[in-house]
Amino acid sequence: MSRTTTVVIGAGHAGLAMSHCLASRSIDHVVLERGDVANSWKTERWDSLRLLTPNWQSRLPGHGYEGDDPDGYRTMPETIGFIERYADRCGAPVQTRTTVTSVRSADGGYLVSTQRGEWRCRTVVLATGACNIPSVPAVAEALPRRIETFTPMSYRSPSQIPEGGVLVVGASATGTQLAEELQAAGRRVTLAVGEHIRVPRIYRGRDISWWMDAAGVMDDPYDEQDDIVRARNVPSLQLAGTSDRRTVDLNRLTSLGVRLVGRLAGIRDGKAQFSGSLKNQCALADLKMNRLLDRIDEWATRSGLDGETDPPQRFEATRLEPVPLLGLDLANDEIRTVIWATGFRPDYSWLDVPVLDRKGRIRHDGGVVESPGMYVMGIPFLRRRKSTLIDGAGDDARDLSAHLASYLAEGNGRPAA
Ligand SMILES: Cc1cc2nc3c(=O)[nH]c(=O)nc-3n(C[C@H](O)[C@H](O)[C@H](O)COP(=O)(O)OP(=O)(O)OC[C@H]3O[C@@H](n4cnc5c(N)ncnc54)[C@H](O)[C@@H]3O)c2cc1C
Repeated sequence: MSRTTTVVIGAGHAGLAMSHCLASRSIDHVVLERGDVANSWKTERWDSLRLLTPNWQSRLPGHGYEGDDPDGYRTMPETIGFIERYADRCGAPVQTRTTVTSVRSADGGYLVSTQRGEWRCRTVVLATGACNIPSVPAVAEALPRRIETFTPMSYRSPSQIPEGGVLVVGASATGTQLAEELQAAGRRVTLAVGEHIRVPRIYRGRDISWWMDAAGVMDDPYDEQDDIVRARNVPSLQLAGTSDRRTVDLNRLTSLGVRLVGRLAGIRDGKAQFSGSLKNQCALADLKMNRLLDRIDEWATRSGLDGETDPPQRFEATRLEPVPLLGLDLANDEIRTVIWATGFRPDYSWLDVPVLDRKGRIRHDGGVVESPGMYVMGIPFLRRRKSTLIDGAGDDARDLSAHLASYLAEGNGRPAA
């Protein structure tokens, strides 16, 4: 059995940021990774994906963008290279090809089992990511067998998709990007739209990410939210990182010929049934976008930026058919493929410490898990709105490593004498 003070599980950017902060506090640790550094970006993303956050917005402790295109959006190979360089630069003690199979409480600390042996530690950091498993709704079971299905993890490019119609379920970042790509590749795409967050790519001449960062929106703290459970479940922004910096919202998709329908509510007798709430969902998304733009405009005025940027803008409301389709016969050949762009969830099946609620979510207060000496990183709105992004890991790792250091300094996590 090996011993260390802290085991960090996962060598994505979150685990590496934590490793950097632990090293700067001289806390002895190891990072256990089931694949290679940046494994999720290497193995679980589709070919054309680019980050939707601009290059400058991947600031990690001791690492940042060094190229000459700060406003561009990284491809997957560039993202992988960025994270690999971070691991090298930090000298992170990563043990790759080491899958954690269980974490148990033991002697005041933790026993971490892997397929390559066991580790005994005083504290443990779960940095295994928020997007391990695609969330596919139960209704999927009722799909006729002849329809092929994909998730964002099994989808790579339009060449995999059979000729014929495609139903993309979910209209957040993934669903809108895949709907656009498939429609452009000549498929007839129907997009099932539930709750979504609409934003323009460029606002008043600057990237929306710049505005949200500068106006403090991304720093909104978790403990000042009226309903943090709700805030943690808000879908991703409808955004894409493209070389022409276009807005990929529902109006763009409609103009390409994508057919919009409401949330997929059920499948009965080979017929897909769509909710009648499409109009309300879109009105709500338009309203929330305008609220965000109001906040940005108020901040710009307070900060004396009105003369330096384009004037405030408001965008056309989401355009919809007067009577959207409520049902679709899946038994005919119209839909050959369904893509479940319905979100992701973390996988804690290896965690043998009772810290999950009945929905399988980890119980924590800003990343400090209910079990003493256990921490979690990289999940939505962990401590701030930006926690789910590469850019959010630095502040979270700094805060949580400080908490962890105090926990150790108090003598916790040692076996009882
Ligand atoms: C499609 C998509 C697009 C995104 N786009 C952006 C974007 O544009 N900008 C942005 O900032 N963020 C983006 N994100 C969000 C965010 O950056 C990712 O969710 C990110 O991967 C989370 O980082 P992480 O380090 O927490 O987790 P991951 O990068 O997933 O790292 C977790 C690591 O843990 C390892 N692991 C898991 N289980 C075990 C185990 N049992 N034992 C050992 N190792 C294990 C995995 O192999 C993986 O390497 C995107 C996410 C997705 C899914």
